[in-house]
Amino acid sequence: MIRSIIPDDVIKRVRSLINGVRDIVITCHLSPDGDAVGSTLGLCHVLRRLGKNANVVTADMVPRSLHFVPGVRDITVMSINESLARRLVSEAQLIFCLDFNTMSRIDKLGECIEGSRAPRVLIDHHLDPDNQFDVMISYPEASSTAELVFRVLMQLRMLNMVDKVAAQCLYLGLMTDTGNFTFGCENPELYEIQAVLMRRRIDKQWLYNMAMNTFSADCLRLRGYALNEKMVLDMDHGVSLITLSLDELRQFNYRKGDTEGLVNVPLAIPGIYWSVFLRQEEDRVRVSCRSIGNFTVNDICARYFNGGGHANAAGGDYYGTLDGAVEQFHRILKELDENNNDN
Ligand code: 5GP
Ligand code: MN
Repeated sequence: MIRSIIPDDVIKRVRSLINGVRDIVITCHLSPDGDAVGSTLGLCHVLRRLGKNANVVTADMVPRSLHFVPGVRDITVMSINESLARRLVSEAQLIFCLDFNTMSRIDKLGECIEGSRAPRVLIDHHLDPDNQFDVMISYPEASSTAELVFRVLMQLRMLNMVDKVAAQCLYLGLMTDTGNFTFGCENPELYEIQAVLMRRRIDKQWLYNMAMNTFSADCLRLRGYALNEKMVLDMDHGVSLITLSLDELRQFNYRKGDTEGLVNVPLAIPGIYWSVFLRQEEDRVRVSCRSIGNFTVNDICARYFNGGGHANAAGGDYYGTLDGAVEQFHRILKELDENNNDN
């Protein structure tokens, strides 16, 4: 049985908010991933079927790898069509914030939403959400935001509105945030949710191939290069470091999303329980960390890289050169050693 985990009064509030309005905006975090795209488009599709003028507005572009998702072309991207994005937000009577927990994670779009008087409903599974939302549906233990959107719709008794298209979107979120049902999916109810979605006759193999197993030749070569020439293993600390400079990225015609998931690969090596990936951008270095077991990386990303995230998957930014970011990484190792010696 799929239990109702969201309190009745919260569901009641969401129902009355939806019933009372026509214009709804749904947004998600920067660099939308499968869960962000799947949960926003899934919810949007259902709201449209209910007769609402619902629109997904994102701060920046959806990566090419997710362009196959039904409804993606309909997304308003603020960095491309700022005036439309601003108009949709200013006309919205209700705003859903999905798969992120603080306005600062959506740049200018966050400021724009903060300037709106529309009530904000958060549906998210990240730790420590900000107090900027009128309704908070925040469950860090959930596998994905798509799972939570499913639960909200179930408790609203709207699952009959989840057709094949919406089911594909929600399945995408579940699948990508759990590495195709590998991690973060210990809750058996997840498979009951999966079964409900599969009854909508979604093609799960097609979704898997499109979302998780489609790469351009350049992208595969970049990954091969990163693993063959740039992966530095420090077996004493059980850590792997991969760095890619702007020059290297250009050499492989890097496109956003091309290195997605790369940071996970070194964890396949026995003895490596922490993986760090530093990718240079024009004005900063993007940091991605993954870990296994009790070694947590969200605290490291918060402390050293202006970021945060989940215990075993976190990220942040280093404002400086790539060399500077590598030095920062070595400083972390040194401090970890010192703390270990103290204990
Ligand atoms: P990724 O390595 O895929 O970019 O990020 C992994 C996870 O870390 C994300 O799902 C998100 O929860 C978190 N994360 C990434 N970047 C940031 C950041 O700059 N700030 C915060 N607070 N969390 C981040
Ligand atoms: Mn997510």
